[in-house]
Amino acid sequence: MNECIDPFIDDLGPEKVIHIYEPKSKLRAIVVIDNISLGPAIGGCRMACDVTVEEVFRLARAMTLKNALSSLPHGGAKSAIVADPGVENKEALIREFAQAIKTLTDYIPGPDMGTDEGSMAYILDEIGRAVGLPKVLGGIPLDTLGMTGYGVSIAGQIAAADLPLNLEGARMVVQGYGNVGKAAAKYLARLGVKLIAACDSKGGVHNPAGIGVEALTRAKESGVSVSASGLGAPVTLEEMLKIESDIFVPAARPDVFNEANQEVLKTRLVLEGANIPITHSAAKKMHERGILIVPDVIANCGGVITAATEYQHQSEQDAFDRVKTTVTENMQELLRRLVGEGLAPHDIALKMARERIAKAMTYRAHM
Ligand code: NAD
Repeated sequence: MNECIDPFIDDLGPEKVIHIYEPKSKLRAIVVIDNISLGPAIGGCRMACDVTVEEVFRLARAMTLKNALSSLPHGGAKSAIVADPGVENKEALIREFAQAIKTLTDYIPGPDMGTDEGSMAYILDEIGRAVGLPKVLGGIPLDTLGMTGYGVSIAGQIAAADLPLNLEGARMVVQGYGNVGKAAAKYLARLGVKLIAACDSKGGVHNPAGIGVEALTRAKESGVSVSASGLGAPVTLEEMLKIESDIFVPAARPDVFNEANQEVLKTRLVLEGANIPITHSAAKKMHERGILIVPDVIANCGGVITAATEYQHQSEQDAFDRVKTTVTENMQELLRRLVGEGLAPHDIALKMARERIAKAMTYRAHM
């Protein structure tokens, strides 16, 4: 390792880090194209006030690894528009962002926190390149179908069989009841899992007897926050992390658990719906405490597989089949290697992805 080089830089990337600032509209954005050895990079465009370059880079790297693990012909990237997703001129900002990335043809944006299918439609309209589009534009509506949450539930099913953990009545906490969280809750509830606590950014509810997933989703979709849904006793965001469960699904922000607070989590299985919700060192400690963590790059690849399926003009059913097959195969390899290699799950997932990227790089003459 050359210590003069920024610690973020390694043999994989990042290939490009771009800051965008348009003084007139006050558009501020960050794009990181991490690695394109497998093909043009697909990665979400998020909209948030508190996003940093470091965060975008780490998310881009997660996409490089996830796309490789998903056997997609795509590298990894990520972007962020630094603004409140509730901003009045959101469409204009997104259109301006699209124009700013027009020449970055190695980057294909998709939806992420704070953006949606409509946002991708504006980008497609501006530059002819985006995934995660509305159905009317040939898209496979991945958030409406809950494709990421579907993949999370497949990972949960295989992990539970391995632990073993009986899914019937297993207690689940979902931190971040948004696109990923509510879909994970829906598909896991179909397997018999009981939602006992959920939250959004305003707070949460706890009900040991069980929270109706459909009722909570209906409330959320009618604009009511989780804590105001009346479906359980109100809890703060901090209290949410301490509720004892069998399955914990982080589906909100990065770094929810770090070394300082990881010990509050009392669960048997973590399904990482969000990207990097647990820092590497905290995940290692949890692994040592006997918690099985399914890393983000394996658990939450349903969205990007669907996006790539859409990009290849294939069907909704193809997307469901591909998500199920990919998550199943990766989970089987992860669980096999967990026994054989004596490493924590994130280290094994990283090795699995790096092996695939390294193989792809041997076929590339110009990197
Ligand atoms: P979303 O905006 O639909 O949902 C996020 C939810 O988290 C919201 O309910 C929000 O209120 C809540 N939240 C925000 N800050 C919180 C906090 N501090 N504490 C508790 N809850 C909080 O976003 P999403 O699309 O569901 O994405 C969630 C995460 O999953 C992100 O990390 C995203 O990168 C990742 N992800 C999303 C997809 C996808 O298909 N949408 C795919 C892979 C990974």
